[in-house]
This record gives sequence, C-alpha cells and structure tokens, in this order.
Amino acid sequence: MTDNQPEPTVPTEDPRPDGLRRADSLVIVNTGNGKGKSSAAFGVMVRALARDWNVAVVQFIKSGDWNVGEEKLGRRLGVDWHSFGDGFTWDSDDLSNDKAHAAEGWARAVEIIDAGHHQLVILDELTYLSSFGWVDIGDITAPIAARPRHVNIVVTGRDAAPELVDLADTVTEMRDVKHAYNAGIRAMRGIDY
Ligand code: ATP
Ligand code: MG
Repeated sequence: MTDNQPEPTVPTEDPRPDGLRRADSLVIVNTGNGKGKSSAAFGVMVRALARDWNVAVVQFIKSGDWNVGEEKLGRRLGVDWHSFGDGFTWDSDDLSNDKAHAAEGWARAVEIIDAGHHQLVILDELTYLSSFGWVDIGDITAPIAARPRHVNIVVTGRDAAPELVDLADTVTEMRDVKHAYNAGIRAMRGIDY
C-alpha cells in the first residue's frame, strides 16, 4: 500500500435504517444503457420461483426466438411466458404491425396484472412501448399503480420514463462501462441469451 492510497474500510456499523416496514409488493425498474437489465429481472424470477410464487413474464420488442435461454428454463419451471415481440425495429418491414402487436401485448399484460394470479410479473423491454410512442405512458403507469396489492412488478428497458421512475420503489440504472460488443464480439449463447 503506497502513501497516496486510502486505507480500505470495512463497514462495522449496520447501514440499514431503523423501523423498516414490510411492503405488500414492489415495483422494480432496471434501466440504463449497460448490460444486465433483463438478466437481473430473470434473477428475480429465480428467487420468486424458489418461494413457489406464480410468475408471469411478458416480453416486448424482441422476437420469441431471441431470449431462448431464460424462456426455456422459465417454461420448464412453470412460468407463464408471453412473447409479443417482432424482433428489432430496424429489421421490421412494417412498423405499424409491430406497434399493434406491442399494444396487444400490453393489453394482455394488463389483464395478467389485474387478475392477480401471479405474485411476480416481469415486463421485459416494456419501456420501449412508451419511448417509441406506441403506448401512452399514462396507460402504462395507471394499471401498474392500480395493481392488486400482492403483485410485484419488474420492468426492464432503456430510457425509463420519469412517470415510471416516480411510480417505482426501486430503480437501477445500468451504466455501460464497457461491453464486449464494442470490441467486435457477438452475443454469446449462455451469457447473453
Ligand atoms: P441482458 O439481457 O444481457 O441483461 P440488457 O437487458 O441490459 O442485457 P438489452 O438492451 O435488452 O440489454 O439488450 C440485450 C442484448 O444486447 C444482450 O445480448 C446484451 O449483451 C446486449 N447489450 C446490452 N447492453 C449493451 C451495450 N451497452 N452495448 C452492446 N450490447 C449490449
Ligand atoms: Mg433486456
């Protein structure tokens, strides 16, 4: 250790505030440009399954054959899995189709949330529906705010709208420090999907 480096500190005080209370459910948002938004959501999926919760996943934007890893495992473990993606928008021949499909997906997601059958509903890549102007942000936040009290929600996607951030209990912004893609490395099976 040289003179100009600070001494490492080991926390000895419990940093948690006093008087923590239990919530009926939480809204979690994983946003930002860095990698890890969806993988963190599927980490929560695993925790929920470990508690024998009913879990639903609704995936937007990406096509059904993209996230094969988590879908394959999720379905095997009893997750109700719904894909409403048409693949990347830049590959689309007709964006009005993508928009209609996304809106249909959101209507289905609202039914799932309202039904209250699942303790965890993951809305993967949901943020793009409002940032592309496909679904009004108010039509996204209202059903989440009005959800049955025991329904936890995880939303992923870049550029989470301020209205969604306001509504959420926990918001994490993944920051892109570096990504293999920028060194010319393609997405890897088992790591990226
Ligand atoms: P993951 O699914 O790996 O958690 P993510 O949900 O944060 O990633 P998305 O925007 O949904 O990110 O994109 C998913 C795909 O794009 C993954 O293959 C991921 O590795 C890749 N990716 C994520 N962030 C970046 C980035 N900053 N630069 C390049 N590729 C990225
Ligand atoms: Mg993602």
